[in-house]
Amino acid sequence: MGAFIDLSTKAKMPIVGLGTWQSSSGKIKEAVKVAIDVGYRHIDCALFYQNENEVGEAIQEKIQEKVVKREDLFIVSKLWCTFFEKSLVKEACWKTLKDLKLDYLDVYLMHFPQGFQAGKDFWPRDDRGSVIPSKAAFLDTWEVMEQLVDEGLVKAIGISNFNHFQIEKLLNKTGLKYKPVTNQVECHPCLTQDRLIQYCHSKGITVTAYSPLGSPDRPWAKPEDSSLLEDPKIKEIALKHKKSTANIVIRFHIQRNVAVIPKSVTPAHIVENFQVFDFKLSNEEMAAILSFNRNWRFCNLEEYPFHAEY
Ligand code: NAP
Repeated sequence: MGAFIDLSTKAKMPIVGLGTWQSSSGKIKEAVKVAIDVGYRHIDCALFYQNENEVGEAIQEKIQEKVVKREDLFIVSKLWCTFFEKSLVKEACWKTLKDLKLDYLDVYLMHFPQGFQAGKDFWPRDDRGSVIPSKAAFLDTWEVMEQLVDEGLVKAIGISNFNHFQIEKLLNKTGLKYKPVTNQVECHPCLTQDRLIQYCHSKGITVTAYSPLGSPDRPWAKPEDSSLLEDPKIKEIALKHKKSTANIVIRFHIQRNVAVIPKSVTPAHIVENFQVFDFKLSNEEMAAILSFNRNWRFCNLEEYPFHAEY
């Protein structure tokens, strides 16, 4: 049934999870059901993805069918940036819990280290098109995230898209009660994140790789952008192991002890992406894949400064 990563809370996070960004309405429910049937126990959700209701329906059906119990599942969601003000954090968490039809989350992440102005618009912009920041600083938001743990709404809290300066700031926060259990960041062969992974692991923070396959369905993809799943070197390694290129890339993350959350709404892909526990990449193959690194972000949000080296 796959492998796990130990969190600092002693909880075990299944190393492979199902991503749900851009998993469209009408497809996501079936995708989650297929995933649970084939053995996925970790589902990566977010209020921002606007599909948590259907994810919740799928989870409920699988619990009612007795395929899984709630405690077998590892459900992650994220606090969206427009809910960073202290008075709004719980409201966002409750909405997620209500939509997912759960009474707790396994991990709740701060989606970005930067809040946006509160309101209905998820990307509030000023006249010049720049995103309007929240008045709340993430250190203040974290205090309410900690309360969610104390109130039993979430088992653990974590961060996403944080660089090491921001993590350092959080870890040095006066009165810090709970450390983040994971930092979910973009990570794949073209952005191997060696230094950030090393830093996080040295602080007892696990890393979760998002866009692990290179996010081929990202809305801003250009035809000339490179494709990891079509890369000749990865194809060569895949052929040797009689696996798909997606399997090779997912396995690459597993062997770095990094959790990996490939998104798919295609049942055959969902099944295939979980067939990664019956083979091993050699040290040479790992080194070859690591050499792809060129610090290239598929998800380079102009609004968020990814300027730090790591
Ligand atoms: P991804 O998982 O790297 O790639 C998803 C794309 O790959 C989809 O087009 C999917 O198509 C395709 N695919 C999946 N399995 C495949 C296979 N075996 N063969 C061929 N194509 C395959 O991209 P992502 O969605 O950007 O990242 C994964 C998850 O990370 C997200 O869904 C989300 O949960 C999370 N995420 C988090 C953040 C954050 O800020 N924290 C940002 C981005 C993503 P099909 O659906 O047709 O299979």
